[in-house]
Amino acid sequence: MLVVGSGMAGLIAAITAASRGKSVRLAARGAGHLAVGNGCVDVLGYVDGEIVRGNPVDSISRLSGDHPYRRIGAETVAESLAFFARLCAENGFDLAGGNGENQWIPTALGSFKPTWFYTPAMNRETLSMADRIVITHMPWLKDCHADMVKACLARQRRLMSKDMYIEETAPFRAHRNLTPLAAARFVDTEAGERWLLSQLLQCLQRSSSGRRTAVLLPPILGVTRSAEIRARLSEALDADLIEMASPPPGVGGLRIRRTLLRAAAGVGVTVMENAHVVEARVQGQRCVSLVCDATGGEREVKADSFIIATGGFLNGGLVAAPGGKVCEAIFGHALPAPERTEDWTMPDMLDSQPYAKLGVQTNTRLNPITPEGDALPDNVYFAGRTLAGYDFVNEKSGMGVAIATGYHAGMNC
Ligand SMILES: Cc1cc2nc3c(=O)[nH]c(=O)nc-3n(C[C@H](O)[C@H](O)[C@H](O)COP(=O)(O)OP(=O)(O)OC[C@H]3O[C@@H](n4cnc5c(N)ncnc54)[C@H](O)[C@@H]3O)c2cc1C
Repeated sequence: MLVVGSGMAGLIAAITAASRGKSVRLAARGAGHLAVGNGCVDVLGYVDGEIVRGNPVDSISRLSGDHPYRRIGAETVAESLAFFARLCAENGFDLAGGNGENQWIPTALGSFKPTWFYTPAMNRETLSMADRIVITHMPWLKDCHADMVKACLARQRRLMSKDMYIEETAPFRAHRNLTPLAAARFVDTEAGERWLLSQLLQCLQRSSSGRRTAVLLPPILGVTRSAEIRARLSEALDADLIEMASPPPGVGGLRIRRTLLRAAAGVGVTVMENAHVVEARVQGQRCVSLVCDATGGEREVKADSFIIATGGFLNGGLVAAPGGKVCEAIFGHALPAPERTEDWTMPDMLDSQPYAKLGVQTNTRLNPITPEGDALPDNVYFAGRTLAGYDFVNEKSGMGVAIATGYHAGMNC
């Protein structure tokens, strides 16, 4: 079988199918959003603007019937999340959360966001338990604003009484545009880890001491050895280190992607990189092959089934043309969309946006269907952000839908 896309949905679909004994190839033009995301796996944070309490899977019944979670069923969603957690554990990736209820993790903008799985380095409880919070100020790093973080933390009821300090660190390299990812890659090296330790030691010496100290950092604790670096630095500093979720390019997502690529290799998935699928060849109700534009020219890849996990508008899975026409990029299926493009958005940016719900409609097996409900090729399955019916920004459900539908497609194909 052939999977297209190597974001969260494509990787989970490929690993699931290969774990069932299928021979799986995965073709992708690029790495997908996982590679630049913050590594938080949101399952469901809000329904109709209301905060989800308790296990998010229990709130799936409150979603509309065309939501991908409703199509595949709450039981499958729960199974897929357990599968994901197992994959991470088996491949040495330390994952926190996944029980009880959503956790509110700190972001580099000073706010907190609800999420289901996160890295232990983002645990908010560590902040609550500290007497002293040191917020590292890295003015040389993009999108990290210590003043804003401090102002937001100080408004949190559980944190108001803490001593909070902002401490500036010197850059490791003169550059106008350093990102947390560049810093994390440096910290992965021995010189980088030494640099971070010396900077943090100076920060702690400058701020008055406390019985228990938490240090808030952008996600710069390495990409490949983050858990061991964090443990070593925490011990050397006698302080808890907490990473904030940052806007792209984040680092946490890349850590998960490395883990999933390892898992995919372990179950024999063949990955074709830089392979842009440009056309589908369909005979009757079956897709027989996809045509890839890859290094060395066009190539036809035949398979008995296909999972399309090509993402939304951002990564090219969905295409919008002038005049309000939307189609799926590989098969060219026209997708239902409001006729007037003015109706694609709502004036309040915090409202659910109609354009966010545009995508491929499917049956419960994730085979594409026409707006009238007729089946299109029945050996083709869609997964992840390419699907219609959910607004991941508004609901906080992006990676959750990618995992659940990738898993379901991988089980059905
Ligand atoms: C700024 C931002 C922040 C976010 N933050 C979070 C968060 O904190 N938590 C959360 O849970 N979710 C978050 N999300 C949502 C989440 O990242 C996405 O919902 C999820 O990554 C979608 O995964 P996917 O695999 O469906 O698609 P993608 O990650 O978009 O992957 C698509 C894949 O398909 C490939 N592709 C596309 N077209 C072709 C083609 N023709 N041929 C070959 N390959 C192709 C791409 O190269 C890529 O590999 C965020 C999204 C954005 C944009």
